Amino acid sequence: MNFLQERILQEGVVKSGNVLKVDSFLNHQLDLGLLEKMGKEFCRRFVDKPITKVLTIESSGIAIAYSVARQLGVPLLVAKKTPSVNLDGELYVAEIDSLTEKAVQKVIISKKYLSPQDRVLIIDDFLANGYALQGLISLVEAADGTVEGLGIAIEKGFQKGGKRIRNLGYHLESLAIIESMDPDSGAITFRTQEA
Ligand code: 5GP
Repeated sequence: MNFLQERILQEGVVKSGNVLKVDSFLNHQLDLGLLEKMGKEFCRRFVDKPITKVLTIESSGIAIAYSVARQLGVPLLVAKKTPSVNLDGELYVAEIDSLTEKAVQKVIISKKYLSPQDRVLIIDDFLANGYALQGLISLVEAADGTVEGLGIAIEKGFQKGGKRIRNLGYHLESLAIIESMDPDSGAITFRTQEA
């Protein structure tokens, strides 16, 4: 069992509706030592990729993506969910469904921060049905950039996103893949992965 799986077993709370709450170390209060380790592990897993930029979506992916980008020494680009004064000029926009916000949502980036030369590592905290990742992938591809890989902290393997993204041929790495979780007993099991 790796460091993230151990922490999920210690502090993760299984809620109804297939939701795992990890607010004590990842989604609300942040454990910076853990984030550092997660960044290091993603760097190890994507060591052979010529990454020029890390991309995530606000807000819960930012801390993990920051750790990865800092350790890779490349810029971090944060896709926005709402138009704001910080977004001007021409934009790439994708629409995604969202489990946590229960509505169709936008992911938006300014065209000036992605180019055909970019080789992008996409990072997010959770993978469920894959809508967020597909939105981010479509932004990179709209810019004619290359998706070098996708790094997820916690994949819920019993939902369809992971299979869908891997079947499309992308290199997807998840630090913890949950095989099952039970809101009544609180039990969580993980898929065995190669070290
Ligand atoms: P997807 O787009 O893959 O269906 O869902 C991924 C997004 O929904 C992630 O960006 C994450 O913020 C949120 N999410 C999905 N499932 C969970 C969950 O079980 N717990 C938490 N905290 N967030 C989740």
